[in-house]
Amino acid sequence: MSPSWKNIRADFPALHQQVNGKPLVYLDNAATSQKPQCVIDTLTRYYTQDNANIHRGIHALSIRATDAYEKARKRALKFLNAASPADIVFTAGTTDSVNLVANSWGNENLKENDVILLTEMEHHSNLVPWQLLAKRTGAKLRFLPVVPGDTGLLDLTKLSKVLTPEVRIFAFTHVSNTLGVINPAAELCAAARKVGALTLVDAAQSAGHIPLDVQQLGCDFFVLSGHKMCGPTGIGVLYGRAPHLDKMPPYRGGGSMIKSVSYFESQWAPSPAKFEAGTPNIADAIALARAMDYLDSLGREAIAQHDKKLAALAYVRIMTEIPGIRILGPAQHRSSVLSFVIPGAHAHDVVTLADQDGIALRGGHHCNQPLMRKLGLTSTSRASFYFYNTEEEVERFILSLKRIQKFFPLWCQANTPPDA
Ligand code: PMP
Repeated sequence: MSPSWKNIRADFPALHQQVNGKPLVYLDNAATSQKPQCVIDTLTRYYTQDNANIHRGIHALSIRATDAYEKARKRALKFLNAASPADIVFTAGTTDSVNLVANSWGNENLKENDVILLTEMEHHSNLVPWQLLAKRTGAKLRFLPVVPGDTGLLDLTKLSKVLTPEVRIFAFTHVSNTLGVINPAAELCAAARKVGALTLVDAAQSAGHIPLDVQQLGCDFFVLSGHKMCGPTGIGVLYGRAPHLDKMPPYRGGGSMIKSVSYFESQWAPSPAKFEAGTPNIADAIALARAMDYLDSLGREAIAQHDKKLAALAYVRIMTEIPGIRILGPAQHRSSVLSFVIPGAHAHDVVTLADQDGIALRGGHHCNQPLMRKLGLTSTSRASFYFYNTEEEVERFILSLKRIQKFFPLWCQANTPPDA
């Protein structure tokens, strides 16, 4: 049975406030989600009762904190259906996880003229670390194109052309933060496996939104950020398949990640400790596990259906009621992200005007500059929904867009399509 989405709003204190004299409509979930009270309480409880450094302590608080931290790792394992706790590395987030793989696996395994395959829709987080790696090693970057036009779909007809045996790793986003498209991750991983390439799935926009199973996806690495799925900022997960993590050298050196140290050399602890040098983000890992409990209590399939319904409703209402607005991304295979352009209006103006109506949108290049250029744009406005958003909020969003569009009447008259 589907949860009562309206009652769920009571779990999120930040949703119950006025912005510019209007009840807040928070539609910036692709940037970061709001936090339920249980996650906030978990942080408070940790800092008020259990706070201690982990792993090395023998006193009661340290034992409690260590247990909770390692339990959080097992919770993340269950959330992703990974095989072993050694496959789950806590990081600072998606960006940190990609950098870990690009540095640790990449430095060790790539050589001149090897190919790193990405797609044309990657967030800078899943592009810049690979550019740096290519510079260090002489490897080449290659891109699976996006179909020309606004559908935002990957051009799968080009996959066999770009996925050649020189490709050592194929790193792609599961859900685009700009186009909203859900990419066929399992299919892409299977195709990569056939040519012997590893895969890294950027799940920043899919974790906490759609059901996930790393074993079913068949990926080698899978990365996510806690703050986009009801958890705290500064915590994320890198899942890696054991044979890779076992062979990868540490990315950072320091305490906690060693077996033994002498003045001139050290030996590493096995994964995951090898990749978690220094005092980790204990409280936020524990709170992320609480967020995972919370999401699973709602049901990830139910969340996906609710998100999709709201994004589809907004899509149809814009298409039918506000001619002239350009929506990016597909009608099908769309998650909860809806990017749009009011031609003649800068996205920052759109977002500022929406803010006057109490509506939180995001405007800009969304860390997708190359994709923006390909689409002939410098920026878009973006509404991104989550399970605590409602149909009434979609209505407020549509009314606000209609008001905003009136600020740009000259353009609209000149460009309204004849059949609109
Ligand atoms: N990849 C995608 C698709 C994203 O949307 C984001 C965040 N906008 C990131 C990576 C980076 O996430 P973080 O900033 O949490 O590291």
